[in-house]
Amino acid sequence: MAKILKGRPVSAKMTEETAEKVKILSEKGIIPTLAVVRVGSKSDDIFYEKSILAKGDEAGVAVKLFHYKENIDGEEFLKEIEKLNRDETVNGVLIFRPLPSQIDDAAVCRLLDPKKDADGITPGSMGGVFTGSGEGFPPCTAQACIEILDYYGLELEGRKTAVIGRSLVVGRPVAAMALERNATVTLCHSRTPGKDMKEVLRKADIIIAAVGKLEMIKGDDIGEDQVILDVGINADEEGRMRGDVAFEEAEKKAACITPVPGGVGSVTTAVLMRHVVKAAERKANL
Ligand code: NAP
Repeated sequence: MAKILKGRPVSAKMTEETAEKVKILSEKGIIPTLAVVRVGSKSDDIFYEKSILAKGDEAGVAVKLFHYKENIDGEEFLKEIEKLNRDETVNGVLIFRPLPSQIDDAAVCRLLDPKKDADGITPGSMGGVFTGSGEGFPPCTAQACIEILDYYGLELEGRKTAVIGRSLVVGRPVAAMALERNATVTLCHSRTPGKDMKEVLRKADIIIAAVGKLEMIKGDDIGEDQVILDVGINADEEGRMRGDVAFEEAEKKAACITPVPGGVGSVTTAVLMRHVVKAAERKANL
């Protein structure tokens, strides 16, 4: 049976380290502050917002909530982002996406100041991930995958790593980050022929699944003794949260696997808080 790579201890260790840094900043009169921007009231956003508030409390990071009506005018919303860019009391900004269709998502990503881009959505942050320029921040979920591997002492160097999904939120940045750690990376997506993807999955040492399709990766699709990070969040017929990997089948073959829930998702807010504190440190030239 596979070792279960729980996110909770990873998150706890990171939050402890972040809280130590917050203490040092507070001695200088600096309170790291995150602005959370929510348009409308999607239940997933509200759930995530609650976990951000709880993690902010734990880490000592102040969280300010900015709520807007679902039908806010697109131009007006951009002006709100400009205000947050100028707001000296705000170090980091997290915007719940997808945004309603009247808001130009690409314009929002371009507009947000990369220095405050705590969830790595701006082209500046993407540049940071892909070129190592140090600008902005990596997307929190992608970074959470790396944190889990590091915490459990699982090396990427020289390991065949299959990343399934190529979004800018998870797949592509995590692939770039694994490459930076000298993994041999193969990125699969919806146009990858099924037989090719199965071959990549079976031969991989590490699998990172970020698709958003309920238990798409079955026990028969994978090899033996692999490390599996399941980023997917899907609801099953009974409304329970499940991953992209059929957990019960995979845990019989894998060396280690993250659970859903309680895996990658539970590390994401710890990464977010770390980014806010880092932004505050950079601003103070620390
Ligand atoms: P996304 O933007 O919808 O991207 C999904 C990716 O999966 C796309 O690149 C798509 O390929 C690929 N894909 C779709 N069907 C596929 C198939 N049959 N075979 C191979 N690849 C396929 O989703 P996302 O934002 O990356 O999120 C992925 C999952 O992670 C979702 O379940 C989401 O809820 C979860 N998530 C979790 C967290 C967390 O904190 N734990 C955070 C963010 C996301 P194409 O590019 O070809 O369309």
